[in-house]
Amino acid sequence: AIISTSSLLLVMGQIKSKAMRDSFEAKHCTTTGLYPKCSWPAKTIKKLVCDKKLSPIFKGVEEPTAGNVEMDECPICFLSYPMGLNRARCCRQEICTECFLQIKETPTTICDCPFCNKNDFAVVYLGPKSRAERETEQEDQRKVEEAQLRMREEEIKKDRERAKKLEQEKQKQNSQEKQSASRSSQTDDSFSESEASTSDSESESEGEPQIPDAQVAVDFNDMLANNHNPAELEDLMIMEAIRLSLLEGNAN
Ligand SMILES: [Zn+2]
Ligand SMILES: [Zn+2]
Repeated sequence: AIISTSSLLLVMGQIKSKAMRDSFEAKHCTTTGLYPKCSWPAKTIKKLVCDKKLSPIFKGVEEPTAGNVEMDECPICFLSYPMGLNRARCCRQEICTECFLQIKETPTTICDCPFCNKNDFAVVYLGPKSRAERETEQEDQRKVEEAQLRMREEEIKKDRERAKKLEQEKQKQNSQEKQSASRSSQTDDSFSESEASTSDSESESEGEPQIPDAQVAVDFNDMLANNHNPAELEDLMIMEAIRLSLLEGNAN
């Protein structure tokens, strides 16, 4: 029998696509162990991925490589994946397949959306993001970063103004203190003058007992200032205290 070229090509194409699909299934339809346990049957996962109902499973990476492969970060596991992620049917939030298989624990589990709390969480897979979608996302990200930068600059400006105001207030306070200090030093001078004039009459009118022993009458402050032996000073202080109490006893 003679086979036409076109039918031969068709068969070859089918074989080729089947081989590709097999290898693709083998690589990206089984869980990678991101979670220790997955209750979904392997066959169900495989069918969903092959039917493009769930995004193909890849081992997520911590840092998306700055290469030509576009990656998307799953907001649940914070790992990045190629080929696009699943989208929540309710709020369009992205989620990787392995995280989805944990949140919806089994094919029949009914649960709430982890992002917006709507009931009966389900996802769709739309393939990798289009260039337009990515550009919109980048534009949004740029706007957010710009707004954050503006806010930071505003904050720094406010901080500077606050510091300046504080400094001005401090200077004002300092100059006020200086003024009042110079005023009070003037009054101090006049006070000491009057004190000096009355000191003589005061000592004359003093009726208190005079210190009998000149040797015991020690200026303790002077001794402290001249770094006398503290033990010796203590002894002297005790002796002085005894002497004063004895004097008091005599007076009574
Ligand atoms: Zn994830
Ligand atoms: Zn949602």
